[in-house]
Amino acid sequence: MSTLPKVAWIGLGIMGSPMSENLIKAGYQVTGFTLEQEKLDRLSAAGGTAAGSIAEAVRDADVIVTMVPASPQVEAIAYGPDGILENARSGALLVDMSSITPQTSVDLAKAAKDKGVRVLDAPVSGGEAGAVEAVLSIMVGGEQADFDEAGPLLEALGKTIVLCGPHGSGQTVKAANQLIVAVNIQACAEAVVFLEKSGVDLRAALDVLNGGLAGSTVLTRKKDNFLARDFKPGFRIDLHHKDMGIVTDAARTVGAALPVGAVVAQLVASLRAQGDGGLDHSALLRAVERLSGDRV
Ligand code: NAD
Repeated sequence: MSTLPKVAWIGLGIMGSPMSENLIKAGYQVTGFTLEQEKLDRLSAAGGTAAGSIAEAVRDADVIVTMVPASPQVEAIAYGPDGILENARSGALLVDMSSITPQTSVDLAKAAKDKGVRVLDAPVSGGEAGAVEAVLSIMVGGEQADFDEAGPLLEALGKTIVLCGPHGSGQTVKAANQLIVAVNIQACAEAVVFLEKSGVDLRAALDVLNGGLAGSTVLTRKKDNFLARDFKPGFRIDLHHKDMGIVTDAARTVGAALPVGAVVAQLVASLRAQGDGGLDHSALLRAVERLSGDRV
C-alpha cells in the first residue's frame, strides 16, 4: 500500500496529461477529471483513475492539482456546489499550476482557508517538452510549510522548484517569465526573417547563434518549429495572449513600464485576430513574415 498522498488532478490538457502521468510513474495514485473523454481514457491507460466529476475526483484526495487554461476556469472548478472547495476534505492541499492573474490566486487562497483547504500557486515554465521530460521550472507562492509538503510531488514534475513568496508570487514570476519568452521569440522570429531574406543558411546560422550570447532555451526548443514552419502547439498563441494581458495589467498596477513587452503583446494580439490563436507561439514568425511582405 502506497504511503504517498492521494492525488486528484483537474485539467488534463497539453500540460496536465504528461504531468499527471509523471506522478503515476513516480508511484502516486492519481484520480483525474477533465472535459475531453479521450484525455480521461489516456489517464486510465496510463494507470490513473478517471472520475466523472470534480467532486468525485477530489473527495478522497490529500493533494489536488489543477492545470486549466486561465482565471475563469480556475474559478469555475474551485467555487460553487460542484467545485473543489465544497467537495475537498478539510486539510487538503490545493496546488494550482495554471497560469492565472496573481489576484485570482490570492482570492482563492483566502476563500479556501475558510474551508480548511491550503493553497499554493505553482505555475510552470518549460512547455510541453518540459512537462513530458519532468524538467519544468515551478514558481511557487504560498506558505513555507505547504511548499515543503508539496516538495516531493513537485520534484516528480520539475527540476527547478522555488518558493517565490506569499500567495500570488508564483503567478507574478510566471508573468515575468511570459514577458521574457514572448520578447525572445519575437527577436528570434525577426532574426529568422532577416537571415532568410539575406540568403544565409538558416540552420547553420541558428546553430552558431545558439552557441553564443544570443543563444536561449527558446531558440533551442523552437529552432525546428522555425525551420519547418511547424506551428502545432505546444503553447498556443491564445494562451500567450492571456499571459501578455496578465503581465501588462500587473505591471500597470505596480507602476512598471514594459515598452517592448507592450509592442510584443500587440503583435500576439494581431496574430490571434488573424486566426492564428490555435497555433504555437513560435508562429510569431508568421507575423514578422506578413509585416515583411510575405503572404503566409
Ligand atoms: P489545454 O487547453 O491543453 O488544457 C486545459 C485543460 O483544462 C483541458 O484538458 C480542459 O478539459 C481542462 N478544463 C478546462 N475547464 C475545465 C473544467 N471546468 N473542468 C475540468 N477541466 C477543465 O492547456 P495547456 O496548454 O495544458 O495549459 C494549461 C495551463 O498551463 C495554462 O494556464 C497555460 O497558460 C499553462 N502553461 C502551458 C504551457 C504549454 O506549453 N502548453 C506551458 C506552461 C504553462
